[in-house]
Amino acid sequence: MTRTLVIVGYGMVGHRLAQAMRDRDVHGAWRITVLAEETRPAYDRVALSSYVHTWDAGDLTLPAVVGVDLRLGEAALEIDRVKREIITSKGERVTYDALVLATGSAPFVPPVPGRELPGCFVYRTIDDLDAIREAVEAAGRTGRRAGMVLGGGLLGLEAANALRGMGLSPHVVELAPRLMPIQVDDGGAGLLRDLVQKLDLTVHTGTSAQVIERDGQRMVVKLTSGVELDVDVVVFSAGIRPRDDLARAMGLTVGQCGGVVVDEGCRTGDANVYAIGECACVAGMVYGLVAPGYAMAEVVADRLLGGTATFPGADTSTKLKLLGVDVASFGDAHATTEGALEVVFNDAVAGTYAKVVVSDDAKTLLGGILVGDASAYTMLRPLVGRAISGDPAALVAPAGTDVALGSLPDDAQVCSCNAVTKAVIKGAIAEGCADVPGLKSCTKAGTTCGSCVPMLKQLLTEAGVAQSKALCEHFDYSRAELFEIVAGSGVSTFSELITKHGRGFGCDICKPAVASILASLGTGHVLDGEQASLQDTNDHFLANLQRNGTYSVVPRIPGGEITPDKLMVIAEVARDYGLYTKITGGQRIDLFGATVDQLPHIWRRLVDAGMESGHAYGKALRTVKSCVGTTWCRYGVQDSVALAIQLELRYRGLRSPHKLKSAVSGCARECAEARGKDFGVIATEHGWNLYVGGNGGFRPRHADLLVSDVDTDTLIRLVDRFLMFYVRTADRLQRTSAWIEAMDGGLDHLRAVIVDDSLGICADLESAMHQHVGAYADEWRGVLEDPEKLARFTSFVNAPGTPDPTISFREERGQRVPVQLGIPEVVSP
Ligand SMILES: Cc1cc2nc3c(=O)[nH]c(=O)nc-3n(C[C@H](O)[C@H](O)[C@H](O)COP(=O)(O)OP(=O)(O)OC[C@H]3O[C@@H](n4cnc5c(N)ncnc54)[C@H](O)[C@@H]3O)c2cc1C
Ligand code: SF4
Repeated sequence: MTRTLVIVGYGMVGHRLAQAMRDRDVHGAWRITVLAEETRPAYDRVALSSYVHTWDAGDLTLPAVVGVDLRLGEAALEIDRVKREIITSKGERVTYDALVLATGSAPFVPPVPGRELPGCFVYRTIDDLDAIREAVEAAGRTGRRAGMVLGGGLLGLEAANALRGMGLSPHVVELAPRLMPIQVDDGGAGLLRDLVQKLDLTVHTGTSAQVIERDGQRMVVKLTSGVELDVDVVVFSAGIRPRDDLARAMGLTVGQCGGVVVDEGCRTGDANVYAIGECACVAGMVYGLVAPGYAMAEVVADRLLGGTATFPGADTSTKLKLLGVDVASFGDAHATTEGALEVVFNDAVAGTYAKVVVSDDAKTLLGGILVGDASAYTMLRPLVGRAISGDPAALVAPAGTDVALGSLPDDAQVCSCNAVTKAVIKGAIAEGCADVPGLKSCTKAGTTCGSCVPMLKQLLTEAGVAQSKALCEHFDYSRAELFEIVAGSGVSTFSELITKHGRGFGCDICKPAVASILASLGTGHVLDGEQASLQDTNDHFLANLQRNGTYSVVPRIPGGEITPDKLMVIAEVARDYGLYTKITGGQRIDLFGATVDQLPHIWRRLVDAGMESGHAYGKALRTVKSCVGTTWCRYGVQDSVALAIQLELRYRGLRSPHKLKSAVSGCARECAEARGKDFGVIATEHGWNLYVGGNGGFRPRHADLLVSDVDTDTLIRLVDRFLMFYVRTADRLQRTSAWIEAMDGGLDHLRAVIVDDSLGICADLESAMHQHVGAYADEWRGVLEDPEKLARFTSFVNAPGTPDPTISFREERGQRVPVQLGIPEVVSP
């Protein structure tokens, strides 16, 4: 006899249960009715924030489940357990043999006076986002609009990023002293804050909203710290509360912190009633993630069909990916296990923080935190609870990220959202799955939060399956192919390019890459119109964001040569704005500690004194260092200073796949360290030797000799070709060294192309460089001459004149330096 299953709630978990039942109930033992409070079919809530890119709910909709009586916009209001009957919001009575509560949770709104005012929102449903958008559009403010998100956890940051996507300047207010307090420790949070602020988010930690007031069309939020924020919308993202009201009214037990108490089979105290997903409390835990909910749905499907499956507990690992910000936290991230040891790598220069937690004997991985670069997450998360061989530091040391997936055991979970193991993926590849979309549809891996997609690619590569070179999901072309498309078609905007040659609205991979291509091809000022929105924050403010949220100002000093007058102007500017002054390894004088609104004033004085942007921020030519050569040195055989200046002025402003550095030494003693550069020149008795593909950084590499004893004109012609060939054909963020190594034929091929012109493209490369050199204009001068560009340079768009409370300094060796947030030390295992 057919029985009736009623699922109350049609979120991701209710949907998974309906699908699992239809997949498994091959004999049709169950008739399924779903009561759904929301008026739209189940959608991917995990990807909710992407809705702001398209405003098309269809993109998020989960596949329809056939053979289900789905009642949208009809909530369960009352449930009579004795009659096994539900009264719905449409006044219908629905009876059941088995009832599954999948009612999810509701955002928690702290009792801040004013929280009911129009303009205050939560962030949970598509309707919430539509309402926020409507309010943003209705806000009558002139200039940039602003929003406040209360809550600096994972969802708060997502919400803030979504506000940014709607064109607002977001403020994130977090009561704890750090962002993402649950997932990240002090050290990681310090870096996270820096990275998040690069996204134009203003962070206020250790404070909360005291009161929200309405003032005409705007809202004023008074924080307990005394800061007042003038905003257009307020979004609460201060945690969630399980929606267990129905269960309470039915007399079912709820947990201490809420949630319908269920056993390991997800059954409540009533044998006919189950609870799954965010409304359930299993073994004292309420999970705010989708993977445990999916696992519970599978358990209930099994039980309803006579099985004995149990909920095994769940992985609470999380990974956040905002524009340019990677954060991941997994296992025992805070080292709460007795005797746990921590190994920390904190690289302030690279902007990465990595910590692994291991057992007291350093033999078992317990957890970890990654900020800035979470590429190791996919490898490390499946290893939690497993024995590690060798030094735990190797897991997070820069060299450790090359660990092959082959070393993972077959039963390790690659996709934790859908509980897919490495063995299942290998099996699918063996049966013919030849790409990521194929693996997604065969195994469900990568279909939820998507963080395991890089691992799927790697497993395909390890299995010998050739991979697509597509830049990202929005373009099927590699960076090099896109470069040729832009160059050949005359396309001059991102929108035109994506409309004609891509799909969707772009992401943090393709937008900066295309911005760089457009800049390499000289299509206007980097802050012109749409181009401005594609840039990373450093490029956006034409300055480098530093660790306390201030910027460094770096005037170009070609070849390291500077007049006393210019030195004096730099000194006066530094003195007047209280900037920390440092002569760097690239022979420049960096001025640190400027706030965004000071940047134009500082540059006005520098530009008036004949100086220009040193491009310390962009992926562009940085410096051409030199020794003093024949001018002063008794060993010098050529004028290294004159050549360095000539090269630096020639290639200044050239945007490239990675930053570029160069140097010229006046003799083989190599005082300028030219062989540690992307292109380096060393003088000989007969001319110049040109070296290419060197770099400093994590994996220092000496450059290789390309040609010897060439004259200056030949040298410059070859460097023109080398740089243009690199700019055109390298992958995104690929250094010259990696580019040459990846080339079929390596250095010999490069030599054939740019010295012997084996491809017949050298005239074209030279002419492209000629065009770049002719079109060069100082970007800072361009900003100063354009009031619209100048208007971007305010630190609090919505509260001009308010000092940023997050920026503070202390004094060291007679200069101002930033007050550091807790920087962890390396703790030996
Ligand atoms: C912006 C955002 C980002 C997220 N990112 C991640 C992430 O990266 N990784 C991750 O694992 N998780 C993430 N989550 C959490 C994840 O979305 C949830 O864990 C998951 O959606 C929970 O599914 P659920 O079905 O239990 O609850 P829900 O999706 O909340 O669904 C419950 C449904 O039940 C309905 N309902 C409630 N009461 C009734 C009633 N009486 N009658 C009928 N219907 C009712 C509700 O309207 C709702 O549609 C994110 C959540 C949000 C909001
Ligand atoms: S590289 Fe040669 S020329 Fe230049 S400073 Fe050193 S010794 Fe002198």
